[in-house]
Amino acid sequence: MDAIKVIKKINTCAKKEKTEVYAVGGFVRDYILGRKEKKDVDFVVVGSGLEFAKKFDLYMKEAGSLVEFPDFDTARYVIGEGAEKMVVEFAGARSENYEATSRKPKVVKASLEQDLSRRDFTVNAMAVPVVAFAGILKPSIKKIVGLVIDPFNGQIDLENKTLRTPLDPDITFSDDPLRMLRAVRFAGQLEFLIDSKTLKSINDNFDRLKIISAERIQEELLKMLAVKTPSVCLALMFQTKLLSLVLPEVVDLDGVEEIFGHQHKNNLVHTFKVVDNIAQRTDKVMLRFAGLLHDIGKSKTKKLLPKIGWTFYAHEFVGKKMVYQISKRLKLSKNDTEYLANLVRWHQQPISLMDDDITDSAVRRLIVAVGEELNDLLILGRSDITTGNPYKKEKRLKNYDNLEERIKQVLERDQLRAFQSPFRGEDIMKECGLKPGPTVGRIKEAIEEAILDGKIKNDYNEAKQYFLEIRKEYLDDAKDWERS
Ligand code: ATP
Ligand code: MG
Repeated sequence: MDAIKVIKKINTCAKKEKTEVYAVGGFVRDYILGRKEKKDVDFVVVGSGLEFAKKFDLYMKEAGSLVEFPDFDTARYVIGEGAEKMVVEFAGARSENYEATSRKPKVVKASLEQDLSRRDFTVNAMAVPVVAFAGILKPSIKKIVGLVIDPFNGQIDLENKTLRTPLDPDITFSDDPLRMLRAVRFAGQLEFLIDSKTLKSINDNFDRLKIISAERIQEELLKMLAVKTPSVCLALMFQTKLLSLVLPEVVDLDGVEEIFGHQHKNNLVHTFKVVDNIAQRTDKVMLRFAGLLHDIGKSKTKKLLPKIGWTFYAHEFVGKKMVYQISKRLKLSKNDTEYLANLVRWHQQPISLMDDDITDSAVRRLIVAVGEELNDLLILGRSDITTGNPYKKEKRLKNYDNLEERIKQVLERDQLRAFQSPFRGEDIMKECGLKPGPTVGRIKEAIEEAILDGKIKNDYNEAKQYFLEIRKEYLDDAKDWERS
């Protein structure tokens, strides 16, 4: 069921119950922007969200299922599964009173306008009565435009691509500091700018992030890494000092030191570039995260050596250790932690291999060490090539192509060596009444050749069929002693 269809059902139910219901938040924002239609829609009910949700559940018969949150006077109604899953949430219009030490507010019933004013950004603080969608067949903003309830001029901010808090930003951010991360995340996701007063307020209030739980921070960080150009979010995180609370290890990469005319590159700038490079090659968020962490060992291992220059020896080992500390702090899963640790540990290897004369055994050692994550490591390694010098860059990318080709060859050769006909020697002996001997070997080899040539698939039934076709010409040549 699509969003508009659900909204129409809600409208019919709301009419019956004589209740005012409004679509709000991200759905309205994305609808006006013409972005891909959302699979989760939030509704504000003037009155009790939970009571209306229960009525809606009855009205929908068995179409979906209701999850109730009586403590918050909200409920969630879920229709369908997988890619088709639609989640709608009902909440009573409310205002929130915060205390300084917690982001858990005291909630009181309120008007729609008051409810909208406690939201994070003006573009998220618009509502549309569900009745406005009644006549709509296809999504079309023209039909609802006059009906948008927009007390904070969210539509103007949408047009100007601006994120701005509805109330004084110092109040909005101090009440719930998670909103600062949401500002940065929306800036990347929507490709909007943060209004200067709002941005200044984040600078002033960044320290408040300390009251936010690791889980919520992790969630927003991963959403930032999932955007098209993550460096937009990362640079904002850095600029507002939020990054110094979330990932101080990354902040430590900033800066260029010069001693006796020797400079090293700014590893923070490099890191952000690497993350963007990865983002162009894959949607996999954890791989992008690995890019963000790949060089964190550099600030601790930096050393200027005479005649050699700046060095970061063993930064991949130090970095791997730091990954475990970061993971613990951000409460990452065990799987994600091991994944990140593995990629950080090995990220140097493809780069250092590509510039040498590569031996098969060096390639094989890398394949075995890295295991399943080899492809991801190769993406990280390629994305790590960020030199600004176009000639150097072309040459290095070419070397990298060679390395990848080499790895492919070694893998193929090793696979061939391990390869065996799915129709086995024992099968051949049984079917032909043969003892172990050259004929069995020749038949087996013929089957394997046919598979390698692509004549038949590497599969038992096809191999057996092929065997039945060729057996006669081989059997005629079999020696007497081979027959059992
Ligand atoms: P998306 O679902 O695309 O991430 P969204 O705008 O729908 O974006 P949700 O987290 O689903 O974001 O929240 C729905 C709405 O609830 C928001 O649009 C906003 O109006 C409000 N909201 C959510 N979290 C907060 C918050 N921490 N502070 C204030 N308002 C919030
Ligand atoms: Mg949402």
